Amino acid sequence: MSKKTFVTKELIEEIVKKYPTPFHIYDEKGIRENAQAVKEAFAWNEGFKEYFAVKATPTPYLIQILREYGCGCDCSSMTELMLSKAIGVTGADIMFSSNDTPAEEYEYAAKLGAIINLDDITHIEFLEETIGKLPETMSCRYNPGGVFVMSNGIMDNPGDSKYGFTTEQMFEGFRILKAKGVKNFGIHAFLASNTVTNEYYPILAKQLFEIAVQLEKETGADIKFINLSGGVGIPYQPDQEENDIREIGEGVRKVYEEVLVPAGMGDIALYTEMGRFMMGPYGALVTQAIHEKHTHKEFIGVDACAVNLMRPAMYGSYHHITVLGKEEEACDYKYDITGSLCENNDKFAIDRMLPKIDMGDYIVIHDTGAHGYAMGYNYNGKLRSAELLLKEDGNAELIRRAETPKDYFATFDGLDIYSKLEEEF
Ligand SMILES: *Cc1c(COP(=O)(O)O)cnc(C)c1O
Repeated sequence: MSKKTFVTKELIEEIVKKYPTPFHIYDEKGIRENAQAVKEAFAWNEGFKEYFAVKATPTPYLIQILREYGCGCDCSSMTELMLSKAIGVTGADIMFSSNDTPAEEYEYAAKLGAIINLDDITHIEFLEETIGKLPETMSCRYNPGGVFVMSNGIMDNPGDSKYGFTTEQMFEGFRILKAKGVKNFGIHAFLASNTVTNEYYPILAKQLFEIAVQLEKETGADIKFINLSGGVGIPYQPDQEENDIREIGEGVRKVYEEVLVPAGMGDIALYTEMGRFMMGPYGALVTQAIHEKHTHKEFIGVDACAVNLMRPAMYGSYHHITVLGKEEEACDYKYDITGSLCENNDKFAIDRMLPKIDMGDYIVIHDTGAHGYAMGYNYNGKLRSAELLLKEDGNAELIRRAETPKDYFATFDGLDIYSKLEEEF
């Protein structure tokens, strides 16, 4: 089976005249169509809001596109909060879903008026000590423990995860918050990651709706929103069937009408914090084949490496690969596609069947729009690439320039690196 890219060889040959490989490129049309579909899928819920998980793709131009579809920002660090503020996202348009949170981040989140989603019961006191009076609106992250299983056998392991309050702590936490004057309550949970099934949100929602009913009954807390967080996945593999966001929205609606409406809680707003689903398929890493090596295996060396996309090295993740201009050719060569790091896990693909690759070929690594550029690092002194936006009019625009050596050396205050490297710069 094949997976299509949103770029062609001709387009990339044009772009590289101005912006050399490697770079991440994003598909504006795809981002917009998907954001619109998400909006429509949950339009039945009056207060619905997607808080884009900034960590997935912290690129202002892209988040600004999502803003046009009503999205806010889900942040969990100081710089993510700062980035949101800088692009005009403040107040209840920010969900601060952090954990192990330093005091200054709570302070700043409160200053921006963000909704604070507590990860731990001890943070009630910590937050109060940090900012004084608690905000009127507070959310708590729930972790029921155990395993989370869906009917296709996919599971995740909340019982092992560091996040969230236990069931008991949710009840205790809501009571304490209420006693401290909190008026509006939210519940949040993130129990399974990259789920490629339409079932995840509906199953999660049912669990959260049921505990919401009990919490309201037993603590008297006024629950205003339920946050299904992230975890909606994308088909990285060519044989996976993609999620249907409309079906997911309908599935959630069904349990909403089953559980919340009869309990008189049919005015609760639903929030999501999707990252991967909003951006993943609409980004690609474009790189060029620069070496071939025939030893114990067949290797193709490219000009990108794991610092541009860490997922294969870190998780062994599959990312589909297209050799531009050879889309229709038979995949009868077996390659390892490697980067240049002094790390043997720096491979974008292992034993991958592909068309014959010639030096100079442009290679597209799919689905890098979320948790791609964002997980970049500087190992081996490698620099982060540029990010480009393929606009709806077909033009490519630079939305983040590539790092230069000057950026890499910028933090050695007091060591006069620049003057010693004047020629190089
Ligand atoms: C990572 C994260 C998300 C986004 O997850 P995706 O799998 O990209 O949808 C949302 N919320 C929180 C709190 C996260 O940590």
